[in-house]
Amino acid sequence: MTEIENLLRADLRGQSPYGAPQLDVPVQLNTNENAFAIPEDVAAVVAEFIGRELRGLNRYPDRDAVALRTDLAAYLGHGLTADHVWAANGSNEILQQLLQAFGGPGRTVLGFMPSYSMHPLLARGTGTAFIDGGREDDYTLSPAYVRAAIEEHDPDLVFLVSPNNPTGTALDAEVIDAAYEAARGLVVIDEAYAEFARDPGSTALGRLAGRKRLVVTRTLSKAFAFAGARVGYLAADPELVEKLLLVRLPYHLSSITQAAARGALACTAQLQAEVDELKHQRDRIVKSLRAKGLPVADSDANFVLVGGFKDAAVVWRAILDQGVLIRDVGLPGRLRITAGTEEETTALLDAFDAVLTDRP
Ligand code: PMP
Repeated sequence: MTEIENLLRADLRGQSPYGAPQLDVPVQLNTNENAFAIPEDVAAVVAEFIGRELRGLNRYPDRDAVALRTDLAAYLGHGLTADHVWAANGSNEILQQLLQAFGGPGRTVLGFMPSYSMHPLLARGTGTAFIDGGREDDYTLSPAYVRAAIEEHDPDLVFLVSPNNPTGTALDAEVIDAAYEAARGLVVIDEAYAEFARDPGSTALGRLAGRKRLVVTRTLSKAFAFAGARVGYLAADPELVEKLLLVRLPYHLSSITQAAARGALACTAQLQAEVDELKHQRDRIVKSLRAKGLPVADSDANFVLVGGFKDAAVVWRAILDQGVLIRDVGLPGRLRITAGTEEETTALLDAFDAVLTDRP
């Protein structure tokens, strides 16, 4: 052990940081980003919002980001107000703050893997024990499965992801209700990809009223093509939001970030058109790969999980050799593909055509 390792917290020794392979490949469909660059007219609005902040950068930002939270609440609808909403640097920071305030040493969070790989890492970083409840054989979750796992482990927090990453499918409302009824602690629904759902009514936002322990987390990274700006948020009971102020860093969200996010929200309609196009390309991938005889799960996200490979790593490499980077998420026989622009999707489908001729 090195001197530094010796000084490191024992639970961090020998661990690896989060990281998706970043390779310089013409078509990158591996990290579930929004494939579209910010359109010129949206960029102009965002620049104007940021521009108004520049001269005031000698001052700290609004600690409570009230204007941004008001805009986010208006975007979400469902009768939510700024008091129900909290914002941070990506939904990763939102999830971290939830764990800092409601998890921590001696406490547990129950997740259902395979799911978002940062959840166990955020738990570890905050000293919260992560319990993997697993999933059914086809990676789905039923109300009975979730209820039984919660009853068995009695966690302080439950993390559910809808639509789930990497499987792509949204949860039925009955699963969320079952989790809420069975749990004594917080039930957090990570809805990073909610805007891509086939049924827009599948969000848990409509279930927040009267459920004080329910939390819905969202992000501008996907539907708003704003991953580089780092803006995530949650909707929950106002009392819960107030408690998060106990763990947030003062001035955690810069004036520039707050302004940029407000600019993007002012352009919701333009950005939504791109979400519609990505949903179209996603459905095209699902249909085309199914037509090639591959099993593909229904997707409510901007990516699809495709299976049916004897050796997923070999297919991943072969697709990469065709100039298209997709993701081997470590699930036997399966690969995850982010929906791209029309041209990128054509390149992807052509790559599969070339590779599947002699199917590994
Ligand atoms: N939740 C899920 C399910 C995700 O896949 C991601 C990003 N890949 C995030 C949260 C975090 O997104 P961000 O921090 O950019 O908001």
